[in-house]
Amino acid sequence: MIVSKIEHIGIAVRNLQEAGKFYEQILGLECYREETVKDQKVRTAFYMAGNLKIELLEPTSQDSPIAKFIEKRGEGIHHIAFETKDLPKVLDKLDNKQIRLIDRHPRLGAEGLQIAFLHPASTHGVLLELCEACRK
Ligand code: ZN
Repeated sequence: MIVSKIEHIGIAVRNLQEAGKFYEQILGLECYREETVKDQKVRTAFYMAGNLKIELLEPTSQDSPIAKFIEKRGEGIHHIAFETKDLPKVLDKLDNKQIRLIDRHPRLGAEGLQIAFLHPASTHGVLLELCEACRK
């Protein structure tokens, strides 16, 4: 098996504080972490819902991929992230199977995870993130 579980769902929002109000005051979830990921030009906020994380993503600049996403489609589900083990090897495997990769090699994501995105063209329309906790 290449993936084990859904690690989190990424949701693109215009404004982290505004969106956070809904998740906190209406749904009653608690934000346990906020972090800026410079590499992706986003500010993120994480909420735990059971054992699934919700990652809100706010663009920090006009050329952020999240800004472009919102411009095109509005706010909404941006990606689904699966947990995996040995991400470099998994990416090799997928590459061999002609799966279109956005990241051919793992890069650093939020929460210190190693991440890589798969192109929606190869995943039936969903931007998929694979993530792996750093091995200590
Ligand atoms: Zn993510």
